[in-house]
Amino acid sequence: MTAPFITRFAPSPNGELHLGHALSALTAFDMARRYGGQFILRIEDIDVQRTREQHVAGICDDLRWLGIEWDGPLLRQSVRFDAYREATQRLQDLGVLYPCFATRSEIEAAAAGRHTGTDPDGSPLYPGLCKNLSASEIAHRTASGEPYCLRLDMDLALEAANAMSKGRPLVFGEWTGEYSNPPSMVTADPARWGDAVIVRKDTPASYHLAVVVDDAMQGITHVIRGRDLYAATGLHRLLQVLLDIPEPVYHHHRLLLDAAGRKLSKSIGSTSLRSLRQAGTTPAEIRQLVGLPPAPA
Ligand code: GLU
Repeated sequence: MTAPFITRFAPSPNGELHLGHALSALTAFDMARRYGGQFILRIEDIDVQRTREQHVAGICDDLRWLGIEWDGPLLRQSVRFDAYREATQRLQDLGVLYPCFATRSEIEAAAAGRHTGTDPDGSPLYPGLCKNLSASEIAHRTASGEPYCLRLDMDLALEAANAMSKGRPLVFGEWTGEYSNPPSMVTADPARWGDAVIVRKDTPASYHLAVVVDDAMQGITHVIRGRDLYAATGLHRLLQVLLDIPEPVYHHHRLLLDAAGRKLSKSIGSTSLRSLRQAGTTPAEIRQLVGLPPAPA
């Protein structure tokens, strides 16, 4: 294999890693080793309020315990805010962002009244509350210090992307994980997200902006992550076109579910790798528990 292979594991340090993270990290690490590539660790800590240093240290400990070594220094997104501001400026120059002052409860109430439906994460689609504010109202509200996020005007963004890509369809490559198989082309459907938040009120990016900017900056060729982010990839492709940055190939792996059929997550208190380790589970058993073959020799 001669083409570069650079992948990454990108956890958010707001809790302890669980078996779902182990599956993601081991899948990406095994593939990087198998294809003579690099495996990068990126800490997605744009949410500085929820970041806990003990979780950053815990992530590193858990990965080393699993036998995972990352290449190069780990990158923290909290040092990348200038890069996100630069990307935001580019989107603003394209005229595809607008400020939104609405609170979560205002949005929920308006969305319920207008039956807007939900995005792929189950959140109400933005009902357009601040979409047509006058320039003077925006100036007045920002000058008075009212917090706002920046949203993508999805219709304008799709139009701009279509013009920039000369009408080529918006697709992403979904790879099976076997080098001999070319990726299948999946139609990206960013409109399912409505006018998505690109810059949050409390921090100079959203997950969607930060992830595409950093995947590009780090030269990630293969994004390996859970199936729960499959729909988000449509939005990521749109941002890559608008920002004129390279597109990686994607591999969205199966998800681990609990006994009730729910995706493992911090919020439902899924058992942490640390507690499994403390209870005497071995790294080889973790691989078995997540359905991976023994570590390659
Ligand atoms: N930070 C995201 C998470 O912890 C993962 C992002 C990604 O792999 O694109 O869910």
